[in-house]
This record gives sequence, structure tokens and C-alpha cells, in this order.
Amino acid sequence: MKKNIFIIGSGFSSLSAACYLASKGNNVTVFEKNNSLGGRARQFEEDGFSFDMGPSWYWMPGVFEKFFNDFGKKVSDYYKLKKLNPAYRVIFGKNSFIDIANNPNKICEEFEKIEKGSGKKLKRYLKIAEENYKLGVEDMLYKMPGKSPLELVSLKTIKKIRFFLSNIKKDVRKDFKDPRLRSVLEFPVLFLGAKASNTPSFYNFMNFADFGLGTFQSKNGFHDLVKAMVKLGRSMGVKYLTNQTVNKIIVKNKKVEKLLVNEKEFICDVLISGADYSHTESLLEKKYRQYKPKYWEKRTFAPSSLLFYVGFNKKLKNVKHHNLIFDTDFEAHAKEIYDKPVWPTDPLFYANFTSKTNPKTAPKGCENGFFLIPIAINLTDTDEIRKKYFDFIIKKMELYTGQKLKDSVIYKKSFCVNDFKKEYNSYGGNAYGLANTLMQTAFLRPKIKSKLVQNLYFCGQLTVPGPGVPPAIVSGELVAGLVNSK
Ligand SMILES: Cc1cc2nc3c(=O)[nH]c(=O)nc-3n(C[C@H](O)[C@H](O)[C@H](O)COP(=O)(O)OP(=O)(O)OC[C@H]3O[C@@H](n4cnc5c(N)ncnc54)[C@H](O)[C@@H]3O)c2cc1C
Repeated sequence: MKKNIFIIGSGFSSLSAACYLASKGNNVTVFEKNNSLGGRARQFEEDGFSFDMGPSWYWMPGVFEKFFNDFGKKVSDYYKLKKLNPAYRVIFGKNSFIDIANNPNKICEEFEKIEKGSGKKLKRYLKIAEENYKLGVEDMLYKMPGKSPLELVSLKTIKKIRFFLSNIKKDVRKDFKDPRLRSVLEFPVLFLGAKASNTPSFYNFMNFADFGLGTFQSKNGFHDLVKAMVKLGRSMGVKYLTNQTVNKIIVKNKKVEKLLVNEKEFICDVLISGADYSHTESLLEKKYRQYKPKYWEKRTFAPSSLLFYVGFNKKLKNVKHHNLIFDTDFEAHAKEIYDKPVWPTDPLFYANFTSKTNPKTAPKGCENGFFLIPIAINLTDTDEIRKKYFDFIIKKMELYTGQKLKDSVIYKKSFCVNDFKKEYNSYGGNAYGLANTLMQTAFLRPKIKSKLVQNLYFCGQLTVPGPGVPPAIVSGELVAGLVNSK
């Protein structure tokens, strides 16, 4: 029977769920509190510069292709993808960097130049990573709504048990001695939101996603994907409503009866929330909340971020589209994110210049820059602190890329813990949800279906499978599968 389904939020998981549910003939409405769609992947334009506000690394292209294929479409029906070469630059200091090529053989050669014997070891490491990718992403991901531990048990996974007993840090450090190679191999773990020492070896499939599959770019960044998913949803009748804040979820007889949206009542059959999990539960009466404040306090959250969107009045040299500034030991920085949450003493950071591949994102002769420092959640966030770190970034960029930048800044906007809380109702101001540690994997994550309210479901980076755009899309498919099966 046709159901009246409401979805809170317009992040990728919600956009994905909306399409799968509408394709089965349901009436689907998406309520988004902000004035544009895409959740953390919104885009904004100012003074001729345009910026993706959140995600920028387009990895695992197969997940996106599969999504559109499920509706008889292809990615290329909506946007054109280009494989970046180099995929990205890792800057270690003045005149010291590695460009990560767009194919694994070339990357192995690059490794070999830095550390004798490491090329062969990388080849071996990537072979295992590829096997794990095939099992983890292609076989398991779509079959794990996180209801029971049994979802993880199969002949194939039993053979892989040792990959859940060790961690990425141990594996990488066993085979690679050079600190630069170690940091390049540990970098993808950042997408999972945890320390390499806390991330099961099985997640080395992210290294295959990185080196084996490559880094892609759609002309207008992730917003092309937002637009494509919304276009697809609209063609199946999904209604997308912006500036609509869900204020309250009203439950009667253990079922969501209606929502208060901008203080107006809406009656529904099923409610799915792609907003941060704890925020959604805060909209319920206390007796219907599954997880108490203590539960959330004990979780390992993925980091928050200090972000800068910057316009320069000139073209920058010695940078690529994606750049990682890894001039420091990530271990020390990671401790200040996870173990002893404080503002980092000497953080690594990420710099992205989309105008290097799409000049239209900046006025003629100008460059746009996006800078990201991962930080702990819930830090005190002030203008003075933001300014201190902006000066830090500019100084390092000037030193490492050999050019003056400070006086070329003609546009600047920052975004940090307070904004994540205010704009997305994000727990502690987290940027990427809940980390994928061993104890927060699959059935150990917050549940996709409420145990206390029969027709209430969750999707997105706080539930299964985890943080990142590809998992968010899968999460939408998983939740829609459960709803459609009822
Ligand atoms: C800075 C940054 C960089 C990132 N980089 C990458 C990357 O390069 N590659 C990658 O794969 N992933 C990246 N990620 C992670 C990725 O963007 C997220 O995991 C994913 O987009 C989360 O999608 P989601 O569906 O969980 O929802 P979200 O995007 O979190 O959307 C939730 C939505 O719910 C809305 N909402 C909240 N409360 C209410 C309410 N009461 N009423 C109505 N609406 C409400 C919010 O406004 C928001 O729009 C990045 C994230 C950030 C922040």
C-alpha cells in the first residue's frame, strides 16, 4: 500500500532513501531546515567564488553508479566524471612532496623511490586491500542493516577474522618505515573518523579505494550529485521542502502520528530521519528515546573541523586540486582529537583548490581555496582561535609553496564547531558522524530502526554503515529496503 513517508534532512542518505521509497510508489516528502538541499554537501557562492561546503573527495565511483543504475539511469546521464591525475599532492615541507598518480603501478614506483623494497610491499598490501574491498563493499555493505551480528558471519568473513583483530597502524608500520609513506597510507582512515590504531585492518579497503580506484571529480563538485539525486527524486514525485525545521515528533500508541514542522502539524505513516541521531531523538518525548546522553558521551565521534573558504586575487602555484599538508606527526594531532581533546598544537591540514580543475569556481585570474583542519568535537570555538589557525595555515602555505598569500586574500569565511551545531544540529559539532571503530561497526552502531517507536527509522552517518558520502547513499538504500519490506 502507498505510504505517506516523511524524511528529516536532505543529506545524501535522505536523498537516497527518498528515491528508493518513491520508486515503490510511496508519497515522499523531505523536510530540510536550511535554505538549500544537500546537508553537509551544500554549496554557496559569494563575490564570484563558489565553494562546496563539505565533501570534496569523490571515491568509490561504483557506489554512485550502482545508485543510478538501480533506477535505470547512469551517472553520465547527470554529470561527467573525470579521474584526477595526480589524484592529490601530499606536501611534507618546503620543496618536499609526493604526487599520488592515477594508477597503482605508478604509485608503487613512487614508493620505491622513497624506500627500497616498498614498491613490492605496496603491491602486496593493495592486493589484500582489493580483496577486502570486494568483500566489504561489494558483498557485505548492502546486506548489513545492522540488525544482528549474524549479518557479519559467512564463510568468507570467517576467513578474514584476523583483519578484525589487528589495526591499520600496526599493519602499515610493519611494512613501511619511511614516515612519509606511513602517513600517506594512514590518511584514508581519516574518512572513517578514527585513529589508525583504532581502525580494524579490514578497513584497508580504503587504501584500495584510494590507490586502486582513484580520485574522481565532477565539474561542479559534489553539488552535481546533490542536483542529480534531487532531479531523479522529483521525476518520481518526491517533494523537497527547504526552510522547514522539524520541531517535534509526536508519538501515539508507540507510532509516530505526526510531526510539528515550523510549528505546523503534518500526519505521516512512516518517519525517517537523516538528521543527526541524537538530535532526532531529542524531538521525541523522553520515554521514546533509545539512547541516553551517557551513551552518546561514550561514543567515539568522528572529528569536527575548522574550515576556511577563501578567495585569492591571483592564481596559486605549486598546488594541485587536492593537497594534504602532512608536515607533522599525525599521531600527536590525533591524540589531541581523540584522547585529550584540545585545540591542536601543530595540526596537519587539507587544502583544496577547485578552480584548478574548474576555473568557473573563481573569478577570472583568481583562485578559490578550501582549508580543513580536523579537530575534536565540542571544543570552545571563538573568532580569535579561528584567526590564529587561519594565520597558521597561510604561513605554512606560503612557506611550502613558495609564494606570498596573505595580502592576496580577498574573500574569507570560516565554519567550525558552533556552526556545525547551529546549522546541522550536529552532536558536539561533529563533521562526519560516528567513527567506524571495531566497537562501532555494523550491528554495534546506533540502530537504523527504532526499538521503541514502530514506524521510526534512521539513516546517515551516525547509523550503518558509517561516515562518508558512499556510506550515506548505502544507508538510504538500507533504510528504504526495511521500510519497503513492511
Ligand atoms: C567538511 C566536510 C568534509 C567532508 N569530506 C568528505 C569527502 O571528501 N568525501 C566523503 O565521502 N565524505 C566527506 N564528508 C562526509 C560526508 O559529507 C557525510 O558523511 C555525508 O554527507 C553525511 O550525509 P547524511 O545523509 O548523514 O546527512 P547530513 O549531510 O548530515 O544532512 C543532515 C541534514 O539534516 C538537516 N536537519 C537537521 N536537523 C533538522 C531538523 N530538525 N529539521 C529539518 N532538517 C534537519 C540538516 O540541516 C542537514 O541538512 C565530509 C563532511 C564534512 C562536514
